[in-house]
Amino acid sequence: MSMPICIIVSPVQESADEAIEGRLHLVDPHDPQVPVTDLGVTRGDGIFEVIGVVHGRPLALDAHLRRLANSAAMLDLPALELEAIRAAVLKTIDLDEHREELSVKIVVTRGVEGTGVPICWVLSFQTDDHRAERAEGIKVVLLSRGYPHDIAARAPWLLTGAKTLSYAINKAALREAARRGADDVIFTSTDGYVLEGPSASLIMKFGQRIWTPSTAQGILRGTTQGAAFEVFGRLGFATAEVLVGVDQLAAADAMWLASSTRLLAPVRLLDEHDVPVDHDLTDTVNAALLDTAR
Ligand code: PLP
Repeated sequence: MSMPICIIVSPVQESADEAIEGRLHLVDPHDPQVPVTDLGVTRGDGIFEVIGVVHGRPLALDAHLRRLANSAAMLDLPALELEAIRAAVLKTIDLDEHREELSVKIVVTRGVEGTGVPICWVLSFQTDDHRAERAEGIKVVLLSRGYPHDIAARAPWLLTGAKTLSYAINKAALREAARRGADDVIFTSTDGYVLEGPSASLIMKFGQRIWTPSTAQGILRGTTQGAAFEVFGRLGFATAEVLVGVDQLAAADAMWLASSTRLLAPVRLLDEHDVPVDHDLTDTVNAALLDTAR
């Protein structure tokens, strides 16, 4: 098995004269690289992105970088130099041997406590094989996220809608799903709206309409959902970002959880209820998403 590639890059511009290439440092991912006093480690104070890469081409790289910059702004981190991070991603892909499908993670932390100097690394790793989930569908449970749907406006300091390193809750929700015999989760608001999964966006089909829950509810703008909506649009569907009540889910004639490496995984069971699976549409959209990477 070949080694993951790891590149450390300063995520903020230090000097205008320094060429980006000289700031990309290839390191051994198995050696310690992050100080134990780093706030990403001690407080989960940082942000990340995971990008799917197919045949050496990153999927929706611009959208991932935009979301990273948005997360940085929400956390009051210094403005990121996205071109340096993009260069680190492309170099990581270039050096990795898994040319067919791989994943690349970008991490930016607030850095060592007291320094105010963020650090960033980019790491490649092998993508899990998601073909069975795409083909057969997944079992999903509804779990409360414990907030009303308008939490982002009411309490922006809770950072809902930023992709922070604090994913302990998201992972706990997935373990709760497993305890209930399910594969994944759709979070709901305390006032009865559907939100997103712990690591995926929700897409629903109602006849010729394709909906995703509004990001005004403090949920992530999904890069896969965005790319999938372009495909659905080309196929003649009317796409929209809306508020969807939990009670509306029963009327959906297909539902997917969408994320960067798994792409669209059709939901086949929601709590105790069967959900129709549109295999042809799922295959068509996933094939188009993979094709955009060629
Ligand atoms: N929502 C959450 C909470 C996520 O963590 C993710 C991805 O990890 C997504 C949605 C889907 O985003 P993307 O399609 O960009 O992977």
